[in-house]
Amino acid sequence: MHRFFYLHTNASTPRVGTSNRLFTECGTSGFLPFPNSTCERHLIDRAGRSSSGVHHVPDKANEQTEFDCIVVGAGISGLLAATVMTRAGARTCVLDKGRGVGGRMATRRRDRAVFDHGAQFFTARDERFLLWVDDWQELGLVEPWYDSPHSGVHYRGVPGMTGVAKYLAGELDVRTESTVTRVSYHEQGKRWHIESADSTILTSALLVLTAPVPQSLALLKAGNFVTPERELEELKSIGYHRCIAALAVLDASSALTECNGALKLRGGPVQWIGDNYRKGVSPAVPSVTIHSTPAFTEENWDVDDSVRLPKLLEAATPYVQANVVSCHGHRWGFSSPIGRFSSDAYIDPERGLAIAGDGLAGGRVEGAAISGLTAASELAGGGNHA
Ligand SMILES: Cc1cc2nc3c(=O)[nH]c(=O)nc-3n(C[C@H](O)[C@H](O)[C@H](O)COP(=O)(O)OP(=O)(O)OC[C@H]3O[C@@H](n4cnc5c(N)ncnc54)[C@H](O)[C@@H]3O)c2cc1C
Repeated sequence: MHRFFYLHTNASTPRVGTSNRLFTECGTSGFLPFPNSTCERHLIDRAGRSSSGVHHVPDKANEQTEFDCIVVGAGISGLLAATVMTRAGARTCVLDKGRGVGGRMATRRRDRAVFDHGAQFFTARDERFLLWVDDWQELGLVEPWYDSPHSGVHYRGVPGMTGVAKYLAGELDVRTESTVTRVSYHEQGKRWHIESADSTILTSALLVLTAPVPQSLALLKAGNFVTPERELEELKSIGYHRCIAALAVLDASSALTECNGALKLRGGPVQWIGDNYRKGVSPAVPSVTIHSTPAFTEENWDVDDSVRLPKLLEAATPYVQANVVSCHGHRWGFSSPIGRFSSDAYIDPERGLAIAGDGLAGGRVEGAAISGLTAASELAGGGNHA
């Protein structure tokens, strides 16, 4: 059984501002990914961080290679898992292959316009996630975008969807442009070896994988890790929709006045139009993000942008009613999961492994967040890791 060490006393453990002190002041001896009192809530968003909120990229020469916990993926699930681990005193490192953090909570600038081009909004119906969102709202990192009678408040990131990710990363050791190629468990030292494309090998006692499930399974397979058959079959059955995004710069504000510029459609090529200008993401230049339906995506995945983007624009024109100045495409190989795992995270307590992410906990940002928090909680809950 894995044993964990929250409030690590090793002198080399990076201290995270006030968080450890707050643990003591609150009289809490436990590990609180899902805080449930006012006092505990202060733990979740009052830790020290760089004033810029920009993620820390350590000097290569001084990079540490041995950790208590390594998290693969700097999307919302990985960053929340790493935040909880770090605040509990675990020496934690996050690796992501991307140039920035946030994963599918992505904001991009093109032709002076700004686009949220992955996740458009998030919900916070689960009390465990709402506590984090409340604090982010207090800090000005998120705000309600629009309200729906069926699905409640839809939050947006401020200034864009990557805002929260950048904020969380400010407190963490995050190494971007680090593509993990293989993870292997070494029984003798009871440690994970995490190999990256640049031949770096980091080691850790605990490992949290938060890439889309097929990618996490591929990393384990490359390291000859044997996942129990029943769980493996269940994990392998989690598929994902793909999505094509058209990022269009407009010559004027769109006609999407309802819901502050958010429109869901059914059937046809387009399933979503989001007005980044009305949303507040692109205050200087009007722009819309258009997402394709799964059917259109599959028919047009390998078709050239010059052919498929005009089709999406044409379908969006009656709603947008403005001229398109320029348009760029983006293909998302994993947008939303089809199916889900039987629990919020896959945990192997013996080997200190968690597989988390939106594929495990019902999809979307909220599910990914719950999954990451669950993974950290479960791995840490094993007691004192030697
Ligand atoms: C087009 C689109 C629209 C969406 N709209 C919404 C929406 O409106 N509302 C909503 O709630 N959700 C939406 N979603 C879904 C939402 O974005 C995801 O559910 C959520 O962001 C997933 O978070 P995650 O942390 O699980 O995964 P990710 O955000 O995908 O993070 C995983 C990270 O792992 C990294 N990674 C992968 N492989 C490796 C490797 N080998 N080495 C290192 N790093 C690796 C990736 O770079 C990535 O940053 C949308 C998604 C897409 C694509």
